[in-house]
Amino acid sequence: MRRFFPFTWITWLMLMAWATDQVRGDEEVFNTVRVKGRNYVNLSDLARYYEFDRNWTQDGLNVTLRSKLKWKKLGIKINSRDCMVNGVRIWLNDAPLESRNSVLISEVDVRKTLDPILRVWAVPKRRVRTVMIDPGHGGEDKGTDGAHNSIEKRLTLDLALRVERLLKQAGFKILMTRRADTYISLEDRSEQANSSDADIFVSLHFNSAKPNPQPHGIETFCLTPAGFSSTGSFQQRLGIGRFGEEAGNESDRHNMLLAYLVQQRLLAGLPKAEDRGIKRARFHVIKATKRPSILVEAGFLSHTAEEKRIRDPVYRNKLAAAIVDGIKKYAAVMNSPAKD
Ligand SMILES: [Zn+2]
Repeated sequence: MRRFFPFTWITWLMLMAWATDQVRGDEEVFNTVRVKGRNYVNLSDLARYYEFDRNWTQDGLNVTLRSKLKWKKLGIKINSRDCMVNGVRIWLNDAPLESRNSVLISEVDVRKTLDPILRVWAVPKRRVRTVMIDPGHGGEDKGTDGAHNSIEKRLTLDLALRVERLLKQAGFKILMTRRADTYISLEDRSEQANSSDADIFVSLHFNSAKPNPQPHGIETFCLTPAGFSSTGSFQQRLGIGRFGEEAGNESDRHNMLLAYLVQQRLLAGLPKAEDRGIKRARFHVIKATKRPSILVEAGFLSHTAEEKRIRDPVYRNKLAAAIVDGIKKYAAVMNSPAKD
């Protein structure tokens, strides 16, 4: 992976240089229609604003938009939250609707899910120098485990130390919520972040679907925006629940950009891993942390083949390199000069 880094880095900078010329600034550019108490944007307005081809393709409920320059691609499904942005799965907060021959997409998803990815340069600049890494669990809280003696708390610390080493080499200052097998409460973790000079917070975990042995793949969580229910939650399935603002909602757009870049690099660096997408949750560490924050679930210990891969240190090096690559890309965006 690292051998190819200079190439991808230069490509990214070239895209950024091109993209910064496209700024149009104004945030309030969409007319909205109100359906069941929520605002929606017409897909044709969205296509025009983000310079997608005017003639998108619709195959049943699947709608695909491409930009003329091909590097932007958006795939949505009517009545489903499952959405693909430039090849990365993202679970929307609200399913797009079809109404009177128009496709409607939630205004909150346009502003807080799609815009930070389709206009990365418009996400407000917040310097990134110090990264706090949070290895999940520890001490009496061992997390989940796999059939072959893999224990989540050990694997998260191992992965965190690999991430730390690579980020230090890249010149970042690193803080860790733990460096040993010690118990730290969730409140302590977010408190450590809030009282430090951490610019971003990255929590590392491994997953389990026990007793179901099937699920596998990588997913990255960021905080659910106010007013919506979390991905796959009971409330979301029933279409109920209204939730207020949390500390972490101040960083909604940053959270999404960071999650997107890390998930994208994880998929690129680990081609065997399934893309389970970017999901929304109100886990304590990403809810209470007043910094751009994500939580990475880097694979399932309850899936035999994935557990076997995760037990291999070479694979964990690849996981770490991909996470670091995503963080570096996020920092490159945030540390680049604002242009307006
Ligand atoms: Zn965990």
